[in-house]
Amino acid sequence: MTRQKKVILDILRSTKSHPTADWIYTEARKVIPDISLGTVYRNLNVLREAGEILELNYGSSYSHYDGNPENHYHHVCLECDRIADVPMPVQAELEQKARACGCGEIYYHRLEFYGLCPACQQKKDKQTR
Ligand code: ZN
Ligand code: MN
Repeated sequence: MTRQKKVILDILRSTKSHPTADWIYTEARKVIPDISLGTVYRNLNVLREAGEILELNYGSSYSHYDGNPENHYHHVCLECDRIADVPMPVQAELEQKARACGCGEIYYHRLEFYGLCPACQQKKDKQTR
């Protein structure tokens, strides 16, 4: 593994914030000042293809990255785009139910919950009061 790839993986594994490539780039430059954004993107693709990280794209213009490659659920805030882990077990029976519908073989599923994060919900509560 190249040093660049290792630095990028370490950055991703040390945060729970599901950052964008830009944020990872800013952090990587603190360790490798002459790293380029292109190199960051290239290494993110290599890490994703190797199953070391997840790329999350929920319709916003930028992908977010997750240092935890195991399947798990996310909560997406529609106001501030915060992505948070939802600490509940992956529902394997969903795949059995979908398979029973005759749609074909299923290898995995992804699930996101959309709404407001606690901070945005609190802001909204104050406005409506
Ligand atoms: Zn929010
Ligand atoms: Mn996650």
